Parts: sequence; C-alpha cells; structure tokens
Amino acid sequence: HADVAMYHAKSSGRNNYTFYTPDMSKAISRRLQLENGLLRALKNGEFIVQYQPKIHLETGEISGAEALLRWNHPELGLVPPNEFIPIAEETGLIIPIGEWVLKTSCMQSKIWQKSGLLPINLALNVSYQQLKTRNFILSIQQALAESGLDPQFLELEITESMLREAGELKIVLDALRPIGIKLAIDDFGVGYSSLSMLQYVDINNLKIDMSLIKDIPESTKAEAIAKTIIELGKNLNCTITAEGVETKEQFDFLKKNNCHFGQGYLFSRPLDGSDFEKLLRNWRKD
Ligand code: C2E
Ligand code: MG
Ligand code: MG
Ligand code: MG
Repeated sequence: HADVAMYHAKSSGRNNYTFYTPDMSKAISRRLQLENGLLRALKNGEFIVQYQPKIHLETGEISGAEALLRWNHPELGLVPPNEFIPIAEETGLIIPIGEWVLKTSCMQSKIWQKSGLLPINLALNVSYQQLKTRNFILSIQQALAESGLDPQFLELEITESMLREAGELKIVLDALRPIGIKLAIDDFGVGYSSLSMLQYVDINNLKIDMSLIKDIPESTKAEAIAKTIIELGKNLNCTITAEGVETKEQFDFLKKNNCHFGQGYLFSRPLDGSDFEKLLRNWRKD
C-alpha cells in the first residue's frame, strides 16, 4: 500500500494519475505474455510432464505416479501450473493441453511397462472444462487405444470443488465407469462441496489435501481430521492418499493410521520422465 500511495503521489504531481502500481503492471504484462503464449507453447512443444511417485506406505513400493504439467517458457523459464492452468481454463486451451498431457503420459507409462518395469498407476489431473466437453470420453478411449495402456492403470483426479456440479458430472463419471479406469478426489478436505456429494459418485481414491498434512504431528486437531478422513475412505471402500508428505513423523503417523498411499517431497519431488525412470529402476524400499 505504501507503494501505491507513493506512485500516486508522484504521478499526480505530474498530473497523470494512474490506478496501476509498477508491480500491478508487471503482473498484468506477465499474464498477457502467458495468455498469448499458450497456443504457441502447445505447437512448439514447450510443455513438459513431470512425474511424482506415489508410495504404498505399508510396503514402501512405488505404486504409481501423478503426472504434473509444467511450461518451459522461452523467456520466463519454468512456469508452474497454478499460474497458467487458470488462464488455459479461461481461454478454453485447457482442452487441447489436457489432451496432450493425457496422450503423452499414457504413452510414457506404456513405454516404461514395455521396457520391463512393473506397471504403475498413472494419475492425471483433469479440469472441469475438460470433463464436460462432449469428446472427453472419446479422448480417454483414444489415448488408451493408441498407447495400449490397460485402463486399470489410469486414474483421473478431479477436485472436491467439482463435486458441487455433481448432477452434470455424474453423467460423465458414469460413462467413464465401464471403461475401467479409476477415479480420485483431489485436494480433499479443503473444497466447498458437502460430504453428501460422495453418495452420488463412485470413487476409488481420496487424496487428503496437503494443508491438512502439514501440521502433523504438532496439531492434534490436524491429526484427528486426517484420521477421520482415512476412516471415511475405509467406509466408502476407497483408498486414501496423503499429499504433501514432507517429514518422517508425518509418514509414521500416516502408516500407523492405515493410510494407504503417500506422495510428497519426503519420497521425491516431481521428476522429468528420464529421472523418474531411474527412480523406478533404483528404488529402495527403505
Ligand atoms: P495437485 O494435483 O494437488 O498436485 C499436487 C501439487 O503439490 C503439485 O504441485 C506437487 O508438485 C506439489 N507437491 C507434491 N509434494 C509436495 C510436498 O511434499 N510439499 C509441497 N509443498 N508440495 C508438494 P504442482 O505440480 O505445482 O501442481 C499444482 C496444481 O496444478 C496441481 O495440484 C493440479 O491441480 C494442477 N495441475 C498440474 N498438472 C495439471 C494438468 O495436467 N492438468 C490440470 N487440469 N491441472 C494440473
Ligand atoms: Mg492432483
Ligand atoms: Mg492435490
Ligand atoms: Mg491442487
């Protein structure tokens, strides 16, 4: 605010009043740069998929990987998804971008299997815009057919907030069922949907949001909430994955309380395909 005041004072002194602070105009021009670059990025191959392992807490094995999109921007460097996915959603480009992620990661996963590595579960994030397009089901079927990936190894992650649109969503989710892929609720525990929505969708995996993991073990309340979500999962017949596991204490707590899977920097950061493959080959269970 001090910044704003100074800028106003300076510019009004020169009689050219402006609403924008230098920081604001920088942010706006970065946004424009991202917005204008998205289509080029898709054409020029500037997107990268990284893979973060999902660990089976009981055995310590890598049971899966979450595909996470990054943009290697020629001028701005690596741009995180939280910055450009909302823009891709607004402009509709999330649909071709999402299809690219789907194809690329299904192919990659199948290549790893063909090279003799044990099959792992591939988890993909999908946006609401993607799910509700007419061709969504078809594009899933095509990606599976083209890659040869068995549907049982593909899991789609939708966020808890998307459950608010359960009516519209249910039609798509029901159509996905017979394909044989899995479904996960991402960022569970921080969305704005009500628990009752869980009645209407068939879920295989609940992912506890990392904001609920980060205060374990200091906060007994955070622990109580995590335990309750694990119990909820058990009663709904689905597996539980904890996101953002960063410490040994969190790992021990989750394992002791029968949380099935964990993802987080304690195990590994998201990695480029080649590094993830090395991780798969050299993984030591303890
Ligand atoms: P998400 O699906 O909840 O993914 C988890 C995020 O947590 C990832 O951030 C991951 O790098 C980060 N993370 C993992 N372990 C830890 C940890 O131990 N500590 C901390 N602090 N963070 C950890 P990332 O890759 O920046 O992705 C952010 C979000 O962007 C994702 O959240 C997801 O909602 C979205 N996203 C990523 N890729 C795609 C995509 O292909 N399509 C769509 N629609 N959304 C995507
Ligand atoms: Mg996710
Ligand atoms: Mg999440
Ligand atoms: Mg998220």
